[in-house]
Formats: sequence, structure tokens, C-alpha cells
Amino acid sequence: MTAAETWEALEQRVRELGELRRVMALLSWDRQTTMPARGVEARARAISTVAVLRHRHMIAPELGELLDAAEAGPLDAHQAAVVRLVRHDRDRSLRLPDELVRRIGMAATRGNAVWEEARTQHDFALFQPHLEEMVALKREQADLLGHDGERYDALLEGYEPGMRTAQVEPMFAALTSELAELLDQIRAADPLPAPPFAGRTFPADAQMRFSLRLLPDLGYDLEAGRLDLSAHPFSTAIAIRDVRITTRMYADDPFPSVMGTIHEAGHGLYEQGMNPDYEDLPVSSPPSLGLHESQSRLWENVVGRSRGFWQHYTPVICDVLGAPMAGTSPEDVYRHVNTVQASLIRVDADEVTYNLHVLIRFELELALMREELEVADLPGAWNDAYQRHLGIRPPHDGDGVLQDTHWSGGAFGYFPTYTLGTIYSAMLWERLRRDLPDVDGQIAAGEFAPLLGWLREHIHHPGSLYEGPELIERVTGGELDHRPLMRYLWAKFGPLYGLAPA
Ligand code: ZN
Repeated sequence: MTAAETWEALEQRVRELGELRRVMALLSWDRQTTMPARGVEARARAISTVAVLRHRHMIAPELGELLDAAEAGPLDAHQAAVVRLVRHDRDRSLRLPDELVRRIGMAATRGNAVWEEARTQHDFALFQPHLEEMVALKREQADLLGHDGERYDALLEGYEPGMRTAQVEPMFAALTSELAELLDQIRAADPLPAPPFAGRTFPADAQMRFSLRLLPDLGYDLEAGRLDLSAHPFSTAIAIRDVRITTRMYADDPFPSVMGTIHEAGHGLYEQGMNPDYEDLPVSSPPSLGLHESQSRLWENVVGRSRGFWQHYTPVICDVLGAPMAGTSPEDVYRHVNTVQASLIRVDADEVTYNLHVLIRFELELALMREELEVADLPGAWNDAYQRHLGIRPPHDGDGVLQDTHWSGGAFGYFPTYTLGTIYSAMLWERLRRDLPDVDGQIAAGEFAPLLGWLREHIHHPGSLYEGPELIERVTGGELDHRPLMRYLWAKFGPLYGLAPA
């Protein structure tokens, strides 16, 4: 075969892998939005069958031969990235027997269904055997994938390639104590006044109308995406021109839904901004979940919780939501969406406490993988950690250890990507403001095109051309560093709560 023929054959196989991923994403989107509850068992089988098919495609000897042949020939930058990414995925897949992939797939879908029931009933005992099975499977998987004595690294690698526990653990410890110091000062300060709309009711259809009005302003293409409701907001890229997001709504406060929409739009804008020339090739995907989360956090927090954003959108949301918003000023909304309060639920947390929720989960799952903690002791360890870091204790496991879906699906090593994403978002923002000195004024005018253009050029369009750490270093000129995040938080919450500078 000539080099061109080799490439064509390789690309064909890699595109098929992309198509199988698309099928899994669609099955999963449907399960979380519209599937009848009793369809779970059949869907579990379908998803795990597609996962096994994809696994077989990935480990096929022909793919290995094509990768070897392609590596020997001349490759452009995109082709080289495709080979590197497929090789990475394939090397990991080769270490996992079909049988383990199938068992994890089944345990994940079943465990997820039991977890939902256990959470509703506040009954950890119901979920415990499923979680024990999953923890055992993940320990086995990590050992098969291989590591240098830190089992957690093998799992983290699946979400944040190149990142190691030894790098994040000390940084997260520093971040935990610096966040605790900020939180202590905020707790000692006067609380922010309640907004005029507190205690009023907001119909779901009006909330949905505001989100649908906002999305195109941000640059999200509704003809290449859609917004639905789900129990937990999420985004999924079926294709570059089919990027779906969801939100959820509360009748007594429209802002969690707005923030959920902006967060998921941040993910969606990233996926819609990938280079379409390489659709279904892994180079047209984010290099890591942390990078993905950097986009959602940047839009949700840095943009969507800024004073300028609400100077522009307060009159709009007052107009769309009508009477219940009467008497609300931009400053009321700004304070409302930035109220800091230690609370039990991660997804509802403010910017200061959010990462403490994540760091608690990181600490616990690391202990589970190190076998320093067993599943039976997890609820107690969870409650103690909340007491220690946030000064509160869940009244029941439904608002405690059962609140997140991740562990039921086997996603150990996933949580740190939320905090890594927040750290990346602050690093990117510092860089972006140097390149776009008027970005605050543009946001206050409802002009997002310059901001989106910068993200498109520097983050979205390159996709996975570089590995995550390299991309961050190319764009920001620095290595992973939590200090820009702490600077950003002090710059916002210091004046808001009248704190003495750190
Ligand atoms: Zn997210």
C-alpha cells in the first residue's frame, strides 16, 4: 500500500469507531431524556453490546498494522494527532478483556437505575452491593491498565490524559486550604440581602423561553443543537452539527436553570466549534474533560455570573419572566447569583464552595482506590468530610453520598476534572483579557462574538491537536496553576462581601 492508501484505510476504520461512539451517545442521550423507565434493562444490553463492538474494533490486529504503517510514513500535524490519540485509546483497550468491558457496562447501567431509587429513598444500603461490585471492577480495571503503584492514575488517565495524582493531590490540598480561608472570611461578613423576587413563582415555559433566547446570543447554534429537560443537566455531542444540551428548572428560582443552560452551552459551543474537516476523527474532540469543563465554567461563572452580563440581561429576563421579576435591578441579580453559602448539594453550589465539594469526592475516591476506605464506610466518611470542609452534615444519604450519578456508572477519576476545568478557565481568562482588553465592556453590551472568536481560535478549533497540558501552556504560557483562580475569586468576592484583601 502507498502511504495515501494506508491513510485512507486507517481513516476509514477510525471513522467507524467514531460512528459507534455516536450510536452510544445517542442511546445514552435518549435514556436520560425521553426513554420510559422500564426500558432500562434492554437499554443496558444495547449500550454494552455497542461498547463491546467498539472495543473489538479498537483491538482488531488490522488497526494495529495500519497504525504501525501510518507511523512509518510522512504525516501532517492532524494525521499525527489522530495516530497518537487512536494509539492511546487502543493501548488501553488492549489491556482490557471483552468480558470486563461487558461486566462494567452492565454494572454501570443497572447500578445507575438502583442508585436513582436509592437516592430517592435515602437508602444507601440498597445501593451498597452495586457500588461494591463497581469499586471491585474499577480496581481490577485500573490494575489491568497498569500504573506505577498509584491505581488512581490509571483511571484519571481515561479523563485527563497525562495528568497524575502526584501532580493534582498537592495542588488540590493547597486549593482546599485557600478556599477555606476565603470561605471563613465570607462567613464572618454580613450576608448579602435577598433579592426582591425571593418567594415568588416562575413558570417553566417562561424559564425555557429565556434560555432559548439567550443561547443564540452566546453563539450556540440551535439548528445544530437542542435544549431539553433532564434530571441532571448535561451536554452530548452526537456530531459537530448535532450537539445537544439539557437544563432543569425550579419553580421558586429561575437562576439555577439559567446557569445550567449557560454551563451546558459552554460545553456545546466547544463541540460546535471543532474543525469540521476532521469530524468523527478523535482530533476533533477535546483533549480532556478538564478542558471541556474549562469552557463550561468560563461561560457559566466568569461570563454568566459577571456584573456586566446582568447589566445587559436583567431587563431581558424581567421582560420574559414578567410580573414575578418586578422591582429587580441588575445589582440584585448579580448578588443573587454570587451568594456564597455552604450547602449540601454540589450542583447547586456557588463558585467558592463548589470546588470544596469536588475535592471531598476526590479525597474519598482516591482512598477507595488505595483501599484505605471500603464502600461500607463511605457514607460516614462523606459526612465527616462535609463537617470538616464545609461545616455542615447531611441529614440523610440522599443529600449526601447518594447525590451524584458518577460512581454508579463507574466514573472514578472523573471528579477532579471539574476542579481542573475551573483552574484552566481562570488561567484562560487571564490570558484572554490581555488579548481582549475590552471584553468586560463587550459582555456588558451583550456582544459575545469577540470572546467566542478567541475561544474558537485558541481552544475549540485545535481540538486535540495538542495534549491538554501542552495546549494550556501554548495558550497561557504557563503550567497548571491554581493561583489565577484564587486571584479571580478574591477580585470578585472581596468587594462583594467587603473583605480585607488576602
Ligand atoms: Zn460541565
